[in-house]
Amino acid sequence: MPEIILTDVTKRWGNFYAVEHLDLKIENNAFVTLLGPSGCGKTTTLRMIAGLETPTSGRIVIGDRVVFDSEMGINIPPNKRKVGFLFQNYALWPNMTVYQNISFGLTNIKDIMPKVSFEARVAARIIEIVKDWKKIVDIAKDCLDKKGQINKDKYHLKLIDTYTVSLMTAKKLASYCFDTADNPQEKADQAVAEMEKIIAAENAAAEKSGCSLNENYEYVKNGEVVQEKRKLSKEEVDLSVRRVSRIVKIGMFMDRYPAELSGGQQQRVAIARTLAPEPSVLFMDEPLSNLDAKLRLEMRSELQRLHLDTGSTFVYVTHDQMEAMTLATSICLIDNGVLQQYDAPLTVYNRPNNTFVADFVGNPSINFVEASCKAKEGALECKIFDNYKVIFTPNEKLDLSEWQAKDRELDEEKERRRKEQLADKHNVEKGNKDVRFKCHIAKVDESEIEEEREITDNDLIIGIRPEAVKISTKGTLEGEIYSAMPTGMETTVRVRIGDYLITGVIFGGITYKLGQKVKLNIDGDGIMLFSQRSGRFITTGTLK
Ligand code: ATP
Repeated sequence: MPEIILTDVTKRWGNFYAVEHLDLKIENNAFVTLLGPSGCGKTTTLRMIAGLETPTSGRIVIGDRVVFDSEMGINIPPNKRKVGFLFQNYALWPNMTVYQNISFGLTNIKDIMPKVSFEARVAARIIEIVKDWKKIVDIAKDCLDKKGQINKDKYHLKLIDTYTVSLMTAKKLASYCFDTADNPQEKADQAVAEMEKIIAAENAAAEKSGCSLNENYEYVKNGEVVQEKRKLSKEEVDLSVRRVSRIVKIGMFMDRYPAELSGGQQQRVAIARTLAPEPSVLFMDEPLSNLDAKLRLEMRSELQRLHLDTGSTFVYVTHDQMEAMTLATSICLIDNGVLQQYDAPLTVYNRPNNTFVADFVGNPSINFVEASCKAKEGALECKIFDNYKVIFTPNEKLDLSEWQAKDRELDEEKERRRKEQLADKHNVEKGNKDVRFKCHIAKVDESEIEEEREITDNDLIIGIRPEAVKISTKGTLEGEIYSAMPTGMETTVRVRIGDYLITGVIFGGITYKLGQKVKLNIDGDGIMLFSQRSGRFITTGTLK
């Protein structure tokens, strides 16, 4: 399975930049979610990789193949990129059965493939299976109905699943009636002889055309497998349909029409249809957003399993951070066309690059607390909530003034690059300018307009995940319950401290009275520190 590399990819319409200078390496066999607020450029990124949208500039490589390069004038069409799509509106064809829906695309594929004697291949498989005819008898016994009659559909499906064969082969196996024959061994011997005859005839036919058949029953000439442009055989189509149906567990619905299926089952058919041509990369654009919450959860776990079973590279667009967190091996978080972070979900959660990322992932959202800090003996002494003095101890050694200097350098570098781009006459200035994310400081009264004040190097932001807020009689911060929302498994509480609100999540269904006085601590070493000036992540630590 291939890796996907995007180098300096930009897409703009006029001076509107949907995607700006994006560098991204999607590892082989990864499950990457493209995450970000509505309109940030997720779908555009996906469509550019898939070939449905032409980038303004940049280069895209899938596996060892350059599929787009603006300078070299390469732009491979989507149907030649060996990728599969699954979109939100996955419309199945209503006048076709499930089987036809899945197989339709396969029957249209015409490609260079090895020339194969399917007759000989199937015959060899049948020989292998009937040698152990007792197992077939056991399967038949499993498919008897209450009246002792064999349920043919069930029998065929079991044969298909047990031996990974096509329906045609399953029917052939059933036709030997080993379960009812007087002398099944004799029947099996006859079947073997019949199949050997077929193989001999196919070998002879191959030799007549100057070829031989290899162990996979492919034609070989001068030591090379013969390639031909052909359609998939009925056998190959059926095998593919059965394979994917097994993966998404819809084998029993093959003859039904979409209207006779539930939403979730239809969704699985759509997934099977996408998987059938064995795409090495699968693109999905919010494929679960039409489903109800329960089904969505179920399908999420199916997708995770599917990723493992198929070994394909998955690229998945979503604006649902929970979906991105639970499914992905890596999250690519975009804002206003600019990549904010590309990391494993827990890294994004625990070490977000900036306040935007910290705010975007996590539900309930992270608490941002304004802090005025000064360095003191390897730690920071900070004033929060107007009058509380706390000590932030970083997990790693921190030289704040050195960090601030580097932070400024990064801004200067960014500004230099912007000016360089402006000077380039081919460049168009970005109309949709990046706006610096402003942290939301939760307050009881948010109606008063805050006066703009100058931010100094001492002004930092402390980020506290709700699970770090611990209500305890030994707590040192004093507040009162502003709201409490128990869901059964956990309770989300908002505590008022002076004019400020802080959100905590407490395990279990605890009942609090509004206005009740409580004490709390900020627990653990996962407390984050950000620059208030740039919003960038500084470090993690503890708060006392
Ligand atoms: P959503 O989650 O809402 O689907 P998204 O992150 O997938 O959003 P995109 O569909 O990639 O967003 O669009 C990015 C931006 O590009 C949007 O602001 C959109 O309006 C704009 N855009 C998309 N297609 C075009 C087009 N053909 N012409 C002009 N602007 C476009």
